[in-house]
Amino acid sequence: MSSTVSKVCKISSIIVGILCFIGGIVLGKALGGRDFNFVSMIATWVGSFLFCLFLYAVGELIDLLVAANNNLIVLAEQQEELASHSCAPSASPAPASGDWVCKKCGAHNKADHRFCKECDTYKQ
Ligand SMILES: [Zn+2]
Repeated sequence: MSSTVSKVCKISSIIVGILCFIGGIVLGKALGGRDFNFVSMIATWVGSFLFCLFLYAVGELIDLLVAANNNLIVLAEQQEELASHSCAPSASPAPASGDWVCKKCGAHNKADHRFCKECDTYKQ
């Protein structure tokens, strides 16, 4: 998963790299006059390489932060879910039509039973 900002950073680092590669050669020719100026060309390359590395690292860092942020959100959601589950009262299943729950012991009895199967309390 990568964000738009990190994509822009990475793509622009590649574009800057290509431009500076050409720029280094142009600069070397311009500064060198008749002789090619290798020093300024290599200096431009090294400088642009570091800049591209920095841009790419920023993009990578944004990716890491976004991933960490997403993990935190997922973790928070999981904890919330866990909390809501543990707090929820354990609801007994609703009796089927006609079935009844004993008022004395809470046993689930069939509709055709008049007395509780557990404690023999009369159905009310
Ligand atoms: Zn009962």
